[in-house]
Amino acid sequence: MTNHHEETIVALATPNGIGAIGVIRLSGTDAIRIANSVFKGKDLTQQPSHTIHFGHIVDNQVVLDEVLVSLFVAPRSYTRENVVEISCHGSVFILESIIKLLVKRGARSANPGEFTLRAFLNGQLDLSQAEAVADLIAANSKASQQVALQQLRGGFSNQLQTLRNELIKFASLVELELDFSEEDVEFANRDQLKQLVLDTNRVIGSLIRSFELGNAIKHGVNTVIAGRPNAGKSTLLNALLNEERAIVSHIPGTTRDTIEEVLNIKGINFRLIDTAGIREATDTIEQIGVQRTMEKIAQTALIIYVFDAVQISVNELNDDLRSLERPGVTILAVANKIDLLNEAQLLSLPGSENITPISAKNKQHIDELKARIYSSAVKDQLTGDETLVTNIRHLEALQKTEDALARVLNGIDHVTSDFLAIDIKQALHYLGEITGTVTTDDLLDNIFSKFCIGK
Ligand code: GDP
Repeated sequence: MTNHHEETIVALATPNGIGAIGVIRLSGTDAIRIANSVFKGKDLTQQPSHTIHFGHIVDNQVVLDEVLVSLFVAPRSYTRENVVEISCHGSVFILESIIKLLVKRGARSANPGEFTLRAFLNGQLDLSQAEAVADLIAANSKASQQVALQQLRGGFSNQLQTLRNELIKFASLVELELDFSEEDVEFANRDQLKQLVLDTNRVIGSLIRSFELGNAIKHGVNTVIAGRPNAGKSTLLNALLNEERAIVSHIPGTTRDTIEEVLNIKGINFRLIDTAGIREATDTIEQIGVQRTMEKIAQTALIIYVFDAVQISVNELNDDLRSLERPGVTILAVANKIDLLNEAQLLSLPGSENITPISAKNKQHIDELKARIYSSAVKDQLTGDETLVTNIRHLEALQKTEDALARVLNGIDHVTSDFLAIDIKQALHYLGEITGTVTTDDLLDNIFSKFCIGK
């Protein structure tokens, strides 16, 4: 992937298919020369950076399209190479013909993510910022866009760089001790090192903990609405989504299948899976539903457990809640059909402080429930500029850093400088993997191959 750096690459930068315009992007030393060879208009090789030129794309005198060409002269471009963007009419035929022509004139079709890979290799972005580009493109909610933007702007990178710099200082002092090992000197003050490792691990610990929320923001929170048949799950789903999607019926157990809908609360996507009842059923179709419910619950972060406040007994309620409990899963208990209760019954609802009383049918207290759903995922107020880890690769690297630093801490008082140096270097290595200070071709391939072509 990294060997073909000299070549000029070309790809469609806009989505495949018909559009008002389509943008073809070229990047590489010869980008301007190649574009110029098919362009009828001004001599592009003589134009300054950041200018736009009207003209025609011609293939042996045959005009293919009327276009606008934007020029970005190295290093003032996304990839830091010469970049040309050709805005064409968005016909699939025109776009394909022009790309083919550019390939004939010496460009090569770009691999997935190759523009961004070049931006990384040329120092325009670090690795975590390059990954943020992919996240930003994939962002499907305000919160996921904000988190990706923060990472793209370098918030995460700067934080890691500060940690790395401190550790590097100590690593070099410890290494210096190795040169004087005969003389039993200590250049790296052990108490300061201890403090540094503790401080670093505190920051790393909070980054690791931010993953739960970061992941929720990026991928959404799998949410199951569970409850006995006829508790009002479908009605609640509709009330939450504010439209009549699932089929509501008063025959117990008629919601046969799981229906996935997305509820967006203040920028967080909750992927709502409506399910059959959780109670064991005799009917086989229903049982399939129950089994699916259980499978869904296994991959769930949040369970909204709905019960019929009129029908259920305290024992049944406790049994249900107990059967749903799982490590790492939040259960929100919701008492439904409170429109059928009088004041006294309402006050005597079991476990009332942990239960949200609603009427799904009359859309009573739905906003309160939404607020509880939101705060189950977002425990603290989001300011928009916090650094959240959203990438599993980063999470794993942070965990390995934390482990290496724990070894430093354990060994500080009784191992020799050379062992200490090894553990500090390990920690530095894992931190460096996140921003790409340390990379391998495999790692880069793995990251950039997940991008789309043209990015
Ligand atoms: P599910 O089997 O849990 O999905 O339950 P449904 O949503 O199909 O509701 C079962 C029955 O309870 C339907 O007849 C609903 O109209 C009724 N129902 C649901 N929510 C309420 C409510 O808040 N109040 C009243 N009175 N009836 C409700």
